Amino acid sequence: MPTKGEKPGKGTYKCKKCGKEITLDSADDALPNCPVCNHTEWDKLN
Ligand SMILES: [Zn+2]
Repeated sequence: MPTKGEKPGKGTYKCKKCGKEITLDSADDALPNCPVCNHTEWDKLN
């Protein structure tokens, strides 16, 4: 699964813990900590 600090590419990612969705706009963007719960693992939505 995509994890904080990885650069998995453009798309929408959903926090595995709280469900917060974020969007990466660039292939150079790295996944952050979740801004809501500080979790570091994400599911890719599309
Ligand atoms: Zn979260």
